[in-house]
Amino acid sequence: MPNQEKLRQQLLQLDGRGYKAYRDIEGSYEFSDFTLIVDRTQGDPFAAPSHFRVKVAGEIAAFPPQLYQTKSRAIALRDYLTRQFDLYARSIGKRRGTGNSGLIGITRIGQEVLERTSVLIDDEFVEVRFVVGLPAGGRRILGHQAVEMLCEQIPQIVDRTLKYYHLDANKIQHHVEVVEDADWIRQQLTERGLVAFIPNGAILPRRSGVDDQPLPNEAVAFQSPKSLQVEFNCPNQGLITGMGVPTGVTLIVGGGYHGKSTLLRAIELGVYNHIPNDGRELVVTHPAAVKIRAEDGRNIVGVDISPFINHLPQGKSTTNFSTTNASGSTSQAANIIEALEADAKVLLVDEDTAATNFMIRDRRMQALIAKDKEPITPFIDKVKQLYADCNVSTILVMGGSGDYFEVADTVIAMQNFQPEDVTAKAKTIAQQYTYSRTPEGGEKFGQITPRIPLPESIDPSYRQKQVRLKVRDVDEMVFGTEDIDLSAVEQIVDTAQSRAIAAAMVYAVRKYIDGKRTLAEILALVMADIEFQGLDILTPFPQCDLAIFRQFELAAAINRLRSLSVR
Ligand code: ADP
Ligand code: MG
Repeated sequence: MPNQEKLRQQLLQLDGRGYKAYRDIEGSYEFSDFTLIVDRTQGDPFAAPSHFRVKVAGEIAAFPPQLYQTKSRAIALRDYLTRQFDLYARSIGKRRGTGNSGLIGITRIGQEVLERTSVLIDDEFVEVRFVVGLPAGGRRILGHQAVEMLCEQIPQIVDRTLKYYHLDANKIQHHVEVVEDADWIRQQLTERGLVAFIPNGAILPRRSGVDDQPLPNEAVAFQSPKSLQVEFNCPNQGLITGMGVPTGVTLIVGGGYHGKSTLLRAIELGVYNHIPNDGRELVVTHPAAVKIRAEDGRNIVGVDISPFINHLPQGKSTTNFSTTNASGSTSQAANIIEALEADAKVLLVDEDTAATNFMIRDRRMQALIAKDKEPITPFIDKVKQLYADCNVSTILVMGGSGDYFEVADTVIAMQNFQPEDVTAKAKTIAQQYTYSRTPEGGEKFGQITPRIPLPESIDPSYRQKQVRLKVRDVDEMVFGTEDIDLSAVEQIVDTAQSRAIAAAMVYAVRKYIDGKRTLAEILALVMADIEFQGLDILTPFPQCDLAIFRQFELAAAINRLRSLSVR
Protein backbone atom coordinates (compact mmCIF):
# COMPACT_ATOMS: atom_id res chain seq x y z
CA MET A 1 0.00 0.00 0.00
CA PRO A 2 1.40 3.48 -0.86
CA ASN A 3 2.21 5.63 2.13
CA GLN A 4 1.53 9.20 3.15
CA GLU A 5 4.64 10.48 1.40
CA LYS A 6 3.48 8.88 -1.84
CA LEU A 7 0.11 10.63 -1.55
CA ARG A 8 1.88 13.93 -0.93
CA GLN A 9 4.00 13.57 -4.05
CA GLN A 10 1.03 12.54 -6.09
CA LEU A 11 -0.98 15.58 -5.01
CA LEU A 12 1.90 17.93 -5.80
CA GLN A 13 2.15 16.39 -9.25
CA LEU A 14 -1.56 16.98 -9.78
CA ASP A 15 -1.21 20.68 -8.94
CA GLY A 16 -2.61 22.84 -11.74
CA ARG A 17 -4.20 19.98 -13.64
CA GLY A 18 -7.89 19.65 -14.50
CA TYR A 19 -10.08 18.76 -11.55
CA LYS A 20 -11.05 15.31 -12.82
CA ALA A 21 -7.43 14.17 -12.39
CA TYR A 22 -8.14 13.90 -8.65
CA ARG A 23 -9.56 10.50 -9.61
CA ASP A 24 -5.94 9.26 -9.62
CA ILE A 25 -5.80 9.39 -5.83
CA GLU A 26 -8.65 6.92 -5.28
CA GLY A 27 -7.28 4.05 -3.22
CA SER A 28 -5.73 3.35 0.20
CA TYR A 29 -2.73 4.97 1.88
CA GLU A 30 -0.77 3.87 4.91
CA PHE A 31 -0.25 6.79 7.27
CA SER A 32 1.91 6.53 10.39
CA ASP A 33 -0.93 5.34 12.60
CA PHE A 34 -3.98 4.89 10.42
CA THR A 35 -5.11 4.01 6.92
CA LEU A 36 -6.65 6.66 4.70
CA ILE A 37 -9.06 5.40 2.08
CA VAL A 38 -10.29 7.55 -0.79
CA ASP A 39 -13.47 5.80 -1.94
CA ARG A 40 -14.85 8.28 -4.47
CA THR A 41 -13.55 11.58 -5.73
CA GLN A 42 -15.88 14.26 -7.02
CA GLY A 43 -15.75 15.25 -10.69
CA ASP A 44 -16.12 18.94 -10.05
CA PRO A 45 -15.40 21.37 -7.17
CA PHE A 46 -19.10 22.30 -7.09
CA ALA A 47 -20.37 18.71 -7.04
CA ALA A 48 -21.10 16.70 -3.89
CA PRO A 49 -17.79 16.33 -2.02
CA SER A 50 -15.51 13.27 -2.17
CA HIS A 51 -15.97 10.21 0.07
CA PHE A 52 -13.15 9.34 2.41
CA ARG A 53 -12.53 6.87 5.21
CA VAL A 54 -10.01 6.50 7.98
CA LYS A 55 -9.30 3.26 9.79
CA VAL A 56 -7.43 3.37 13.07
CA ALA A 57 -6.29 0.08 14.55
CA GLY A 58 -7.96 -0.86 17.84
CA GLU A 59 -4.73 -0.89 19.82
CA ILE A 60 -3.93 2.66 18.67
CA ALA A 61 -7.40 4.14 19.23
CA ALA A 62 -7.43 2.26 22.54
CA PHE A 63 -11.05 2.58 23.58
CA PRO A 64 -11.87 0.39 26.58
CA PRO A 65 -14.09 -2.42 25.29
CA GLN A 66 -16.73 -1.73 27.97
CA LEU A 67 -17.55 1.44 26.02
CA TYR A 68 -18.78 -0.50 23.00
CA GLN A 69 -19.60 -4.02 24.14
CA THR A 70 -23.37 -3.68 24.17
CA LYS A 71 -25.31 -2.41 21.20
CA SER A 72 -26.58 0.61 23.18
CA ARG A 73 -23.11 1.57 24.28
CA ALA A 74 -21.57 1.11 20.86
CA ILE A 75 -24.20 3.36 19.26
CA ALA A 76 -23.59 5.96 21.96
CA LEU A 77 -19.82 5.85 21.59
CA ARG A 78 -20.08 6.08 17.81
CA ASP A 79 -22.38 9.06 18.24
CA TYR A 80 -19.93 10.70 20.62
CA LEU A 81 -17.02 10.24 18.22
CA THR A 82 -19.06 11.57 15.32
CA ARG A 83 -19.74 14.73 17.31
CA GLN A 84 -16.08 15.13 18.27
CA PHE A 85 -14.95 14.69 14.69
CA ASP A 86 -17.55 17.19 13.51
CA LEU A 87 -16.59 19.80 16.11
CA TYR A 88 -12.89 19.50 15.52
CA ALA A 89 -13.12 19.41 11.74
CA ARG A 90 -15.24 22.56 11.83
CA SER A 91 -12.82 24.32 14.14
CA ILE A 92 -9.85 23.83 11.82
CA GLY A 93 -11.72 23.97 8.51
CA LYS A 94 -11.40 26.83 6.11
CA ARG A 95 -12.33 27.68 2.56
CA ARG A 96 -9.60 26.82 0.15
CA GLY A 97 -10.93 27.84 -3.23
CA THR A 98 -13.98 27.33 -5.39
CA GLY A 99 -17.13 25.31 -4.59
CA ASN A 100 -16.70 23.01 -1.63
CA SER A 101 -12.92 23.41 -1.59
CA GLY A 102 -11.57 22.99 1.93
CA LEU A 103 -14.56 21.23 3.45
CA ILE A 104 -14.01 18.31 5.80
CA GLY A 105 -17.41 17.18 7.02
CA ILE A 106 -18.95 14.16 8.62
CA THR A 107 -22.71 14.51 8.96
CA ARG A 108 -25.17 17.03 10.29
CA ILE A 109 -26.14 15.88 13.76
CA GLY A 110 -28.82 17.07 16.16
CA GLN A 111 -29.98 16.22 19.67
CA GLU A 112 -30.80 12.57 18.90
CA VAL A 113 -28.41 9.69 19.37
CA LEU A 114 -29.05 7.50 16.35
CA GLU A 115 -27.24 4.54 14.92
CA ARG A 116 -25.26 6.04 12.05
CA THR A 117 -22.80 5.00 9.40
CA SER A 118 -20.37 7.82 10.19
CA VAL A 119 -18.31 5.90 12.76
CA LEU A 120 -17.97 2.15 13.29
CA ILE A 121 -16.08 0.47 16.08
CA ASP A 122 -15.02 -3.04 17.07
CA ASP A 123 -11.93 -4.59 18.66
CA GLU A 124 -9.95 -4.36 15.44
CA PHE A 125 -10.70 -0.87 14.14
CA VAL A 126 -12.32 2.46 14.57
CA GLU A 127 -13.54 3.43 11.15
CA VAL A 128 -14.69 6.94 10.31
CA ARG A 129 -16.33 8.06 7.09
CA PHE A 130 -16.38 11.66 6.03
CA VAL A 131 -16.48 13.89 3.00
CA VAL A 132 -13.81 16.19 1.68
CA GLY A 133 -14.15 19.10 -0.71
CA LEU A 134 -10.96 18.61 -2.69
CA PRO A 135 -9.49 22.07 -3.27
CA ALA A 136 -9.57 23.85 -6.60
CA GLY A 137 -8.84 27.28 -8.00
CA GLY A 138 -11.49 27.65 -10.66
CA ARG A 139 -11.53 24.11 -11.99
CA ARG A 140 -7.80 23.46 -11.52
CA ILE A 141 -6.39 21.28 -8.78
CA LEU A 142 -4.73 23.09 -5.91
CA GLY A 143 -2.14 20.46 -5.01
CA HIS A 144 -0.50 22.28 -2.11
CA GLN A 145 -3.84 22.97 -0.49
CA ALA A 146 -4.75 19.31 -0.95
CA VAL A 147 -1.52 18.25 0.76
CA GLU A 148 -2.36 20.47 3.71
CA MET A 149 -5.82 18.98 4.00
CA LEU A 150 -5.06 15.32 3.47
CA CYS A 151 -1.58 15.01 4.91
CA GLU A 152 -1.78 17.51 7.77
CA GLN A 153 -5.37 18.28 8.76
CA ILE A 154 -6.73 14.76 8.53
CA PRO A 155 -3.94 13.27 10.70
CA GLN A 156 -4.56 16.07 13.19
CA ILE A 157 -8.30 15.36 13.32
CA VAL A 158 -7.66 11.65 13.70
CA ASP A 159 -5.22 12.28 16.48
CA ARG A 160 -7.52 14.60 18.41
CA THR A 161 -10.83 12.85 17.97
CA LEU A 162 -10.26 9.14 17.48
CA LYS A 163 -7.76 8.35 20.19
CA TYR A 164 -9.11 7.66 23.61
CA TYR A 165 -6.30 9.34 25.54
CA HIS A 166 -7.04 12.66 23.82
CA LEU A 167 -10.71 12.61 24.76
CA ASP A 168 -12.60 13.32 27.97
CA ALA A 169 -13.04 9.88 29.55
CA ASN A 170 -15.72 11.03 32.01
CA LYS A 171 -17.84 12.62 29.33
CA ILE A 172 -17.65 9.51 27.15
CA GLN A 173 -18.57 7.30 30.08
CA HIS A 174 -21.54 9.52 30.92
CA HIS A 175 -22.67 9.58 27.28
CA VAL A 176 -22.76 5.77 26.97
CA GLU A 177 -24.34 5.32 30.40
CA VAL A 178 -27.19 7.76 29.78
CA VAL A 179 -27.99 6.19 26.42
CA GLU A 180 -27.85 2.71 27.91
CA ASP A 181 -30.21 3.72 30.72
CA ALA A 182 -32.67 5.21 28.25
CA ASP A 183 -32.66 2.00 26.21
CA TRP A 184 -33.09 0.01 29.39
CA ILE A 185 -36.13 2.00 30.54
CA ARG A 186 -37.65 1.69 27.06
CA GLN A 187 -37.28 -2.07 27.26
CA GLN A 188 -39.04 -2.15 30.62
CA LEU A 189 -42.07 -0.10 29.56
CA THR A 190 -44.26 -2.93 28.31
CA GLU A 191 -43.88 -5.17 31.33
CA ARG A 192 -44.60 -2.19 33.56
CA GLY A 193 -47.82 -1.51 31.67
CA LEU A 194 -46.58 1.80 30.31
CA VAL A 195 -46.27 3.38 26.89
CA ALA A 196 -44.12 6.36 27.86
CA PHE A 197 -42.03 7.72 30.70
CA ILE A 198 -41.08 11.32 31.50
CA PRO A 199 -38.61 11.69 34.38
CA ASN A 200 -38.89 14.36 37.03
CA GLY A 201 -36.60 17.22 36.19
CA ALA A 202 -36.89 16.74 32.42
CA ILE A 203 -36.74 19.91 30.34
CA LEU A 204 -39.19 19.50 27.49
CA PRO A 205 -39.49 22.89 25.74
CA ARG A 206 -37.05 23.75 22.97
CA ARG A 207 -35.31 26.99 22.23
CA SER A 208 -37.47 27.65 19.20
CA GLY A 209 -39.33 25.97 16.40
CA VAL A 210 -36.09 25.78 14.44
CA ASP A 211 -33.66 25.14 17.29
CA ASP A 212 -33.97 21.80 19.02
CA GLN A 213 -31.73 22.63 21.95
CA PRO A 214 -33.34 22.95 25.40
CA LEU A 215 -34.98 26.25 26.31
CA PRO A 216 -32.26 27.78 28.48
CA ASN A 217 -33.62 29.95 31.30
CA GLU A 218 -37.33 30.09 31.85
CA ALA A 219 -38.03 26.37 31.29
CA VAL A 220 -40.19 24.75 33.97
CA ALA A 221 -38.79 21.33 34.87
CA PHE A 222 -41.21 18.43 34.58
CA GLN A 223 -42.64 17.01 37.82
CA SER A 224 -44.91 13.96 37.86
CA PRO A 225 -48.18 13.97 39.78
CA LYS A 226 -47.93 11.53 42.70
CA SER A 227 -50.60 9.19 41.35
CA LEU A 228 -48.76 8.56 38.07
CA GLN A 229 -45.30 8.41 39.56
CA VAL A 230 -43.17 5.35 38.79
CA GLU A 231 -39.59 4.41 39.53
CA PHE A 232 -36.92 2.70 37.49
CA ASN A 233 -33.77 1.31 38.97
CA CYS A 234 -31.45 2.00 36.04
CA PRO A 235 -28.24 0.05 35.48
CA ASN A 236 -26.03 3.17 35.54
CA GLN A 237 -27.81 6.10 37.16
CA GLY A 238 -29.73 4.11 39.77
CA LEU A 239 -33.18 5.22 40.84
CA ILE A 240 -35.00 7.46 38.34
CA THR A 241 -38.48 8.72 39.21
CA GLY A 242 -41.04 10.26 36.91
CA MET A 243 -44.42 10.02 35.24
CA GLY A 244 -45.47 6.78 33.63
CA VAL A 245 -48.10 7.03 30.93
CA PRO A 246 -50.15 3.83 31.21
CA THR A 247 -51.39 1.74 28.31
CA GLY A 248 -54.93 2.42 27.13
CA VAL A 249 -56.37 5.79 26.20
CA THR A 250 -54.64 8.81 27.71
CA LEU A 251 -55.94 12.32 27.30
CA ILE A 252 -53.77 15.40 27.75
CA VAL A 253 -56.00 18.39 28.47
CA GLY A 254 -55.43 21.93 29.67
CA GLY A 255 -55.68 25.52 28.58
CA GLY A 256 -54.01 26.90 25.49
CA TYR A 257 -50.30 27.60 25.85
CA HIS A 258 -49.92 25.42 28.94
CA GLY A 259 -47.47 22.93 27.43
CA LYS A 260 -49.67 20.13 26.00
CA SER A 261 -48.11 19.99 22.57
CA THR A 262 -44.63 20.31 24.03
CA LEU A 263 -45.26 17.24 26.19
CA LEU A 264 -46.62 15.26 23.26
CA ARG A 265 -43.70 16.27 21.04
CA ALA A 266 -41.26 15.04 23.68
CA ILE A 267 -43.18 11.75 23.79
CA GLU A 268 -43.09 11.50 19.96
CA LEU A 269 -39.31 11.86 20.01
CA GLY A 270 -38.96 9.51 22.98
CA VAL A 271 -38.75 6.68 20.46
CA TYR A 272 -35.17 7.95 20.02
CA ASN A 273 -32.43 8.55 22.55
CA HIS A 274 -31.03 12.01 23.22
CA ILE A 275 -27.68 13.34 24.29
CA PRO A 276 -26.97 14.13 27.95
CA ASN A 277 -28.17 17.63 28.94
CA ASP A 278 -30.75 17.63 26.21
CA GLY A 279 -33.42 17.70 28.90
CA ARG A 280 -35.21 14.75 27.29
CA GLU A 281 -32.44 12.17 27.62
CA LEU A 282 -34.56 9.89 29.78
CA VAL A 283 -37.91 10.66 28.17
CA VAL A 284 -38.66 7.33 26.57
CA THR A 285 -41.56 6.05 24.56
CA HIS A 286 -42.66 2.67 23.27
CA PRO A 287 -40.60 2.02 20.12
CA ALA A 288 -43.73 1.41 18.06
CA ALA A 289 -45.35 4.77 18.87
CA VAL A 290 -46.41 6.67 15.76
CA LYS A 291 -47.46 10.29 15.42
CA ILE A 292 -50.72 10.62 13.57
CA ARG A 293 -51.96 13.79 11.97
CA ALA A 294 -54.16 15.10 9.22
CA GLU A 295 -52.33 15.69 5.96
CA ASP A 296 -54.71 16.97 3.36
CA GLY A 297 -53.46 16.83 -0.20
CA ARG A 298 -51.50 13.63 0.27
CA ASN A 299 -51.68 10.69 -2.06
CA ILE A 300 -53.34 7.51 -0.79
CA VAL A 301 -53.19 4.17 -2.57
CA GLY A 302 -55.55 1.26 -1.96
CA VAL A 303 -55.97 1.69 1.80
CA ASP A 304 -58.88 0.07 3.60
CA ILE A 305 -60.09 3.04 5.63
CA SER A 306 -63.51 1.46 6.26
CA PRO A 307 -63.03 1.31 10.05
CA PHE A 308 -63.34 5.12 9.92
CA ILE A 309 -64.91 6.11 6.63
CA ASN A 310 -67.87 4.54 4.83
CA HIS A 311 -70.36 5.27 2.06
CA LEU A 312 -68.62 8.23 0.48
CA PRO A 313 -70.53 10.26 -2.11
CA GLN A 314 -70.65 8.71 -5.61
CA GLY A 315 -70.20 5.25 -4.13
CA LYS A 316 -66.43 5.64 -3.85
CA SER A 317 -64.83 2.61 -2.23
CA THR A 318 -63.41 2.94 1.24
CA THR A 319 -62.15 -0.64 1.57
CA ASN A 320 -59.75 0.08 -1.27
CA PHE A 321 -59.45 3.81 -1.07
CA SER A 322 -57.23 5.80 -3.39
CA THR A 323 -56.96 9.50 -3.99
CA THR A 324 -54.38 11.95 -5.26
CA ASN A 325 -55.71 14.67 -3.01
CA ALA A 326 -56.92 13.47 0.37
CA SER A 327 -59.10 15.52 2.68
CA GLY A 328 -58.12 16.19 6.28
CA SER A 329 -60.23 13.35 7.61
CA THR A 330 -59.44 10.72 4.94
CA SER A 331 -55.72 11.50 5.24
CA GLN A 332 -55.85 11.07 9.00
CA ALA A 333 -57.76 7.80 8.65
CA ALA A 334 -55.19 6.53 6.12
CA ASN A 335 -52.31 7.61 8.36
CA ILE A 336 -53.78 5.52 11.17
CA ILE A 337 -54.47 2.44 9.05
CA GLU A 338 -51.02 2.61 7.44
CA ALA A 339 -49.41 2.87 10.88
CA LEU A 340 -51.37 -0.18 12.06
CA GLU A 341 -50.39 -2.04 8.92
CA ALA A 342 -46.74 -1.43 9.90
CA ASP A 343 -47.54 -2.72 13.41
CA ALA A 344 -47.86 0.46 15.45
CA LYS A 345 -48.68 -0.09 19.12
CA VAL A 346 -49.22 3.49 20.26
CA LEU A 347 -50.86 6.36 18.37
CA LEU A 348 -49.99 9.95 19.24
CA VAL A 349 -52.47 12.61 18.21
CA ASP A 350 -52.44 16.36 18.79
CA GLU A 351 -55.60 18.40 18.24
CA ASP A 352 -53.41 21.12 16.69
CA THR A 353 -52.74 18.90 13.68
CA ALA A 354 -55.88 16.75 13.65
CA ALA A 355 -59.01 17.12 11.53
CA THR A 356 -61.83 18.18 13.87
CA ASN A 357 -64.50 16.22 12.03
CA PHE A 358 -62.32 13.13 12.31
CA MET A 359 -61.93 13.55 16.07
CA ILE A 360 -65.45 14.36 17.25
CA ARG A 361 -69.08 14.46 16.24
CA ASP A 362 -71.11 15.78 19.09
CA ARG A 363 -74.69 15.13 20.07
CA ARG A 364 -76.14 18.15 18.32
CA MET A 365 -74.38 17.31 15.09
CA GLN A 366 -75.60 13.74 15.36
CA ALA A 367 -79.12 15.09 15.68
CA LEU A 368 -78.77 17.34 12.64
CA ILE A 369 -76.84 15.08 10.27
CA ALA A 370 -77.97 11.47 10.43
CA LYS A 371 -75.34 8.75 10.67
CA ASP A 372 -76.08 7.51 7.14
CA LYS A 373 -75.29 10.98 5.75
CA GLU A 374 -71.93 11.20 7.50
CA PRO A 375 -69.18 8.97 6.08
CA ILE A 376 -66.89 9.50 9.07
CA THR A 377 -66.96 7.40 12.20
CA PRO A 378 -65.12 9.74 14.53
CA PHE A 379 -61.98 8.65 16.34
CA ILE A 380 -63.76 8.99 19.68
CA ASP A 381 -65.89 5.95 18.78
CA LYS A 382 -62.90 3.86 17.76
CA VAL A 383 -60.20 4.73 20.22
CA LYS A 384 -61.35 2.26 22.91
CA GLN A 385 -61.77 -0.54 20.39
CA LEU A 386 -58.26 0.09 19.13
CA TYR A 387 -57.03 -0.81 22.56
CA ALA A 388 -59.50 -3.61 23.25
CA ASP A 389 -59.27 -5.31 19.83
CA CYS A 390 -55.80 -4.42 18.58
CA ASN A 391 -53.88 -3.67 21.79
CA VAL A 392 -53.04 -0.22 20.43
CA SER A 393 -52.87 2.58 22.99
CA THR A 394 -53.46 6.25 22.22
CA ILE A 395 -52.11 9.44 23.74
CA LEU A 396 -54.23 12.33 22.67
CA VAL A 397 -53.89 16.07 23.23
CA MET A 398 -57.41 17.43 23.39
CA GLY A 399 -58.06 20.75 25.06
CA GLY A 400 -61.26 21.40 23.14
CA SER A 401 -63.67 18.50 23.74
CA GLY A 402 -64.81 16.95 27.01
CA ASP A 403 -66.59 14.22 25.03
CA TYR A 404 -63.37 12.28 25.27
CA PHE A 405 -63.69 12.00 29.09
CA GLU A 406 -66.04 9.08 28.40
CA VAL A 407 -63.43 7.02 26.62
CA ALA A 408 -60.23 7.97 28.45
CA ASP A 409 -58.51 5.69 30.95
CA THR A 410 -56.19 8.46 32.15
CA VAL A 411 -56.63 12.23 31.96
CA ILE A 412 -53.63 14.47 32.50
CA ALA A 413 -54.14 18.22 32.77
CA MET A 414 -51.25 20.53 31.91
CA GLN A 415 -51.29 23.66 34.02
CA ASN A 416 -48.48 26.17 33.85
CA PHE A 417 -46.40 23.50 32.16
CA GLN A 418 -46.98 20.98 34.98
CA PRO A 419 -49.02 17.80 34.74
CA GLU A 420 -51.82 16.97 37.11
CA ASP A 421 -53.77 13.72 37.24
CA VAL A 422 -57.41 14.73 36.76
CA THR A 423 -58.78 11.32 35.81
CA ALA A 424 -61.21 11.07 38.72
CA LYS A 425 -62.44 14.63 38.26
CA ALA A 426 -62.99 14.10 34.55
CA LYS A 427 -64.97 10.91 35.21
CA THR A 428 -67.16 12.69 37.76
CA ILE A 429 -67.81 15.49 35.32
CA ALA A 430 -68.68 12.99 32.61
CA GLN A 431 -71.33 11.54 34.93
CA GLN A 432 -72.57 14.90 36.10
CA TYR A 433 -73.17 16.31 32.64
CA THR A 434 -74.70 13.15 31.30
CA TYR A 435 -74.43 12.82 27.85
CA SER A 436 -76.48 10.98 25.38
CA ARG A 437 -74.25 11.04 22.41
CA THR A 438 -74.80 7.86 20.41
CA PRO A 439 -71.71 5.73 19.97
CA GLU A 440 -71.23 5.08 16.25
CA GLY A 441 -68.26 2.77 16.25
CA GLY A 442 -70.05 -0.58 15.96
CA GLU A 443 -68.90 -3.69 17.80
CA LYS A 444 -65.34 -4.05 16.61
CA PHE A 445 -62.56 -1.83 15.34
CA GLY A 446 -62.58 -3.60 11.98
CA GLN A 447 -59.83 -5.28 10.08
CA ILE A 448 -56.56 -4.13 8.60
CA THR A 449 -56.49 -5.32 5.00
CA PRO A 450 -52.96 -6.14 3.85
CA ARG A 451 -51.67 -4.53 0.66
CA ILE A 452 -49.18 -5.89 -1.85
CA PRO A 453 -47.08 -3.18 -3.52
CA LEU A 454 -46.31 -3.74 -7.20
CA PRO A 455 -42.59 -3.54 -8.06
CA GLU A 456 -42.92 -1.63 -11.34
CA SER A 457 -44.69 1.17 -9.50
CA ILE A 458 -41.62 1.95 -7.38
CA ASP A 459 -38.98 3.07 -9.84
CA PRO A 460 -35.87 4.95 -8.72
CA SER A 461 -34.56 5.53 -12.26
CA TYR A 462 -34.34 8.84 -14.03
CA ARG A 463 -33.48 9.12 -17.74
CA GLN A 464 -30.28 7.09 -18.22
CA LYS A 465 -29.60 6.80 -14.51
CA GLN A 466 -30.68 3.58 -12.82
CA VAL A 467 -30.97 5.25 -9.47
CA ARG A 468 -31.53 8.87 -8.69
CA LEU A 469 -31.98 9.76 -5.05
CA LYS A 470 -31.64 13.18 -3.53
CA VAL A 471 -32.40 14.37 -0.08
CA ARG A 472 -32.43 18.13 0.18
CA ASP A 473 -33.79 18.28 3.69
CA VAL A 474 -35.38 15.97 6.25
CA ASP A 475 -38.70 16.19 4.51
CA GLU A 476 -37.73 16.58 0.85
CA MET A 477 -36.83 13.44 -0.99
CA VAL A 478 -36.33 12.96 -4.71
CA PHE A 479 -36.90 9.36 -5.76
CA GLY A 480 -36.45 8.73 -9.49
CA THR A 481 -38.71 11.22 -11.21
CA GLU A 482 -40.76 11.99 -8.11
CA ASP A 483 -40.60 14.37 -5.18
CA ILE A 484 -41.82 12.71 -2.00
CA ASP A 485 -43.16 15.15 0.57
CA LEU A 486 -42.32 13.92 4.06
CA SER A 487 -43.11 17.15 5.87
CA ALA A 488 -46.02 15.55 7.76
CA VAL A 489 -43.93 12.58 8.89
CA GLU A 490 -42.87 14.20 12.12
CA GLN A 491 -40.78 11.39 13.50
CA ILE A 492 -38.17 11.71 10.78
CA VAL A 493 -35.76 14.04 12.54
CA ASP A 494 -32.55 13.87 10.55
CA THR A 495 -31.62 14.19 6.87
CA ALA A 496 -29.43 11.12 7.34
CA GLN A 497 -32.61 9.18 8.15
CA SER A 498 -34.28 10.44 4.98
CA ARG A 499 -31.21 9.40 2.97
CA ALA A 500 -31.28 5.96 4.50
CA ILE A 501 -35.02 5.65 3.83
CA ALA A 502 -34.54 6.57 0.17
CA ALA A 503 -31.77 3.97 -0.12
CA ALA A 504 -33.92 1.41 1.70
CA MET A 505 -36.70 1.89 -0.84
CA VAL A 506 -34.27 0.99 -3.62
CA TYR A 507 -33.04 -1.97 -1.56
CA ALA A 508 -36.62 -3.13 -0.97
CA VAL A 509 -37.51 -2.94 -4.67
CA ARG A 510 -34.42 -4.89 -5.68
CA LYS A 511 -34.75 -7.53 -3.01
CA TYR A 512 -38.23 -7.96 -1.65
CA ILE A 513 -40.95 -6.10 -3.52
CA ASP A 514 -42.05 -8.84 -5.89
CA GLY A 515 -45.78 -8.37 -6.34
CA LYS A 516 -46.42 -11.20 -3.88
CA ARG A 517 -45.23 -10.04 -0.49
CA THR A 518 -47.35 -7.71 1.59
CA LEU A 519 -46.03 -4.32 2.61
CA ALA A 520 -45.83 -5.49 6.23
CA GLU A 521 -43.67 -8.48 5.20
CA ILE A 522 -41.41 -6.28 3.11
CA LEU A 523 -40.90 -3.81 5.94
CA ALA A 524 -40.05 -6.60 8.37
CA LEU A 525 -37.51 -8.14 5.96
CA VAL A 526 -35.75 -4.85 5.25
CA MET A 527 -35.60 -3.90 8.92
CA ALA A 528 -34.24 -7.32 9.88
CA ASP A 529 -31.52 -7.09 7.22
CA ILE A 530 -30.49 -3.67 8.55
CA GLU A 531 -30.53 -4.88 12.12
CA PHE A 532 -28.28 -7.86 11.41
CA GLN A 533 -26.04 -6.49 8.67
CA GLY A 534 -26.03 -2.75 9.30
CA LEU A 535 -27.06 0.26 7.23
CA ASP A 536 -24.14 -0.25 4.84
CA ILE A 537 -26.16 -2.86 2.93
CA LEU A 538 -28.26 0.00 1.58
CA THR A 539 -25.52 1.71 -0.41
CA PRO A 540 -23.05 0.61 -3.10
CA PHE A 541 -20.06 1.99 -1.20
CA PRO A 542 -19.54 3.16 2.40
CA GLN A 543 -21.18 6.46 3.29
CA CYS A 544 -21.04 8.70 6.32
CA ASP A 545 -24.52 10.09 6.25
CA LEU A 546 -27.06 7.35 6.84
CA ALA A 547 -28.96 7.07 10.11
CA ILE A 548 -31.37 4.48 11.41
CA PHE A 549 -35.11 4.85 10.92
CA ARG A 550 -38.08 2.68 11.83
CA GLN A 551 -40.37 0.63 9.64
CA PHE A 552 -43.03 3.32 10.15
CA GLU A 553 -40.98 6.01 8.46
CA LEU A 554 -39.98 3.69 5.62
CA ALA A 555 -43.65 2.81 5.15
CA ALA A 556 -44.53 6.50 5.25
CA ALA A 557 -42.17 7.25 2.36
CA ILE A 558 -43.44 4.32 0.26
CA ASN A 559 -47.04 5.28 1.02
CA ARG A 560 -46.44 8.83 -0.17
CA LEU A 561 -45.00 7.80 -3.50
CA ARG A 562 -47.49 9.02 -6.10
CA SER A 563 -46.58 6.31 -8.60
CA LEU A 564 -47.31 3.54 -6.08
CA SER A 565 -49.83 0.90 -6.97
CA VAL A 566 -50.91 -2.04 -4.84
CA ARG A 567 -52.94 -5.16 -5.02
P1 ADP B 1 -50.31 24.09 24.21
O1 ADP B 1 -50.17 22.94 23.28
O2 ADP B 1 -50.86 23.68 25.54
O3 ADP B 1 -51.09 25.21 23.63
P2 ADP B 1 -47.45 24.40 23.88
O4 ADP B 1 -46.94 23.08 24.26
O5 ADP B 1 -47.50 24.73 22.44
O6 ADP B 1 -48.87 24.67 24.55
O7 ADP B 1 -46.54 25.45 24.66
C1 ADP B 1 -46.73 26.84 24.57
C2 ADP B 1 -45.41 27.55 24.75
O8 ADP B 1 -44.89 27.30 26.04
C3 ADP B 1 -44.33 27.12 23.78
O9 ADP B 1 -43.64 28.27 23.33
C4 ADP B 1 -43.41 26.24 24.60
O10 ADP B 1 -42.09 26.28 24.15
C5 ADP B 1 -43.56 26.82 25.98
N1 ADP B 1 -43.37 25.77 27.00
C6 ADP B 1 -43.85 24.51 26.96
N2 ADP B 1 -43.49 23.81 28.04
C7 ADP B 1 -42.75 24.64 28.81
C8 ADP B 1 -42.08 24.50 30.06
N3 ADP B 1 -42.08 23.35 30.73
N4 ADP B 1 -41.41 25.57 30.53
C9 ADP B 1 -41.41 26.74 29.85
N5 ADP B 1 -42.01 26.92 28.68
C10 ADP B 1 -42.68 25.90 28.14
MG1 MG C 1 -50.93 22.74 21.35
